[in-house]
Amino acid sequence: MVDFKQTIGFLKAALNATEDLIFVKDRDFYYRAVNKPVCDNYLMTEDQIVGFRDDELLPPETVNIFRPIDREVINSGRRIKVEEWVTFPSGKRVLLETVKSPCFDDEGSIIGLIGVARDISARKKAEEELRLAKEEADHASQAKSQFLSNMSHEIRTPMNAVLGFSQILQELEEDRSKKFYLESILNAGKNLLSIINDILDLSKVEAGQFELQYTPVSLERLLEELNLFFLPKISEKGLSFSVSNVKMDKAILVDAVRLRQVLINIINNAVKFTVKGFVSVAVEFEYLNEFKSLGKVKITIKDSGIGIDLNQQDRIFETFLQAKGQRASEYGGTGLGLAISKQLMELMGGDITLDSEKGAGSTFYLELPEVEMVELDSLSGNEDGIDIKDIVFEPATIVIADDINYNRDVLKGFLKEYNFKLVEAGNGKELLKVLKETGTDLILLDVKMPEITGLEAAQIIKLDRNVPIIAVTAFAMDEEQKKISKFTDGYLRKPVVKKELVLELMKHLKYKNNSS
Ligand code: ADP
Repeated sequence: MVDFKQTIGFLKAALNATEDLIFVKDRDFYYRAVNKPVCDNYLMTEDQIVGFRDDELLPPETVNIFRPIDREVINSGRRIKVEEWVTFPSGKRVLLETVKSPCFDDEGSIIGLIGVARDISARKKAEEELRLAKEEADHASQAKSQFLSNMSHEIRTPMNAVLGFSQILQELEEDRSKKFYLESILNAGKNLLSIINDILDLSKVEAGQFELQYTPVSLERLLEELNLFFLPKISEKGLSFSVSNVKMDKAILVDAVRLRQVLINIINNAVKFTVKGFVSVAVEFEYLNEFKSLGKVKITIKDSGIGIDLNQQDRIFETFLQAKGQRASEYGGTGLGLAISKQLMELMGGDITLDSEKGAGSTFYLELPEVEMVELDSLSGNEDGIDIKDIVFEPATIVIADDINYNRDVLKGFLKEYNFKLVEAGNGKELLKVLKETGTDLILLDVKMPEITGLEAAQIIKLDRNVPIIAVTAFAMDEEQKKISKFTDGYLRKPVVKKELVLELMKHLKYKNNSS
């Protein structure tokens, strides 16, 4: 038999055990029952509350909060949930989340309401703190991206002179030992640039600003290219190198630049950490459907090098971390490559995994579980096959606008051998003046100039004439690229490489190609 008295006792105990305030009011707003937390907060006994109304117990400002909702529940018969700040007679001020539900009799008429009120002050405070912390973190991340963008600009600008003049001198210099020194300056400069690029990539991925550029890629050609790229370095170390052949009648649709970057990074590591033995690159491929429109690619890079301890294998994919105990003086590096590679592969819908044992070599697997396949003939042909020595431009006038002398000198040096009249402008104002006085066929425009910036000048120029403008800039964040591209016809990134400059000019000026 159920002992009702005992059951009710248990229920009452349960109601008193909760920290929520639970109360019942009739349709005239008189309290009919309250639990212990109500008494504790009102600083009253149950008898002092039950049989009374809020306006007999609480100050008017509190009644004005409670009463309208009570009335609405009784009138509408709806359950209502509200959040409100309340000061109890105990002096405690809290944010209450209160649910008030109507009570019905057997005939379905509303006879009152039941309320359950919960103190959510602590939760709200935690939420607010979290929101503020996130806001702060977002600010910090934005500041970091901005800092990196500025820093890259500041480093790229002088690099423009270092790399540009080294390239020019290399062409002029006959002396073998001087040529060798110049080669070393160029290589060191390129290394420095690739570190800057790594840091920029990472900040872009972290800021969610990274946009992939999908293009068709022939895996077969990509592997041939990598073979050619690494052969000299690998044979210099006396290692054997094998790259498997793939025969595929279709191209995969990926970000070619980024896939190449990941592969170069992993193969570079394999070569760097292998003293003797081999490095091999193998590709497995299968179509995922009968239309051959989707495929699965797995590229395996294996080496017989120093290997990686099992407990280090997660660590090495983290930014700035290298295997523990590794001497920086021996292998160098920044610990960024694998972190970026993994993030890039994940962005492309793939992954990098690893199989290794200390002293027993390493195997890295790059997997793209689902890539789109397109016809090979849609390849745009990145390898242009153009030798810029064969290009003869028709006479033209080019204005070089840059506030830094040596930047103008680098561009002048690159263009000296061509049939151009080169006019210089040291700022935006000068540029506008020069344009009035000279018939101009093309403008090479630095974006960051004092007074009238390049961007502003471009906007003004485009208002009344359609002369091609090539932006030359050290900014590398996508946002800036977008801003620039609205008003310009082309884009060159500092440090400018001679071939890229000539290829860009070929898009806008008349020329003959002597090889064809
Ligand atoms: P870095 O090579 O600049 O140090 P990475 O992020 O490319 O940066 O690599 C991180 C670390 O992972 C390396 O410093 C090395 O400890 C370890 N590692 C990567 N590839 C290999 C490999 N093929 N063999 C042994 N260790 C490797």
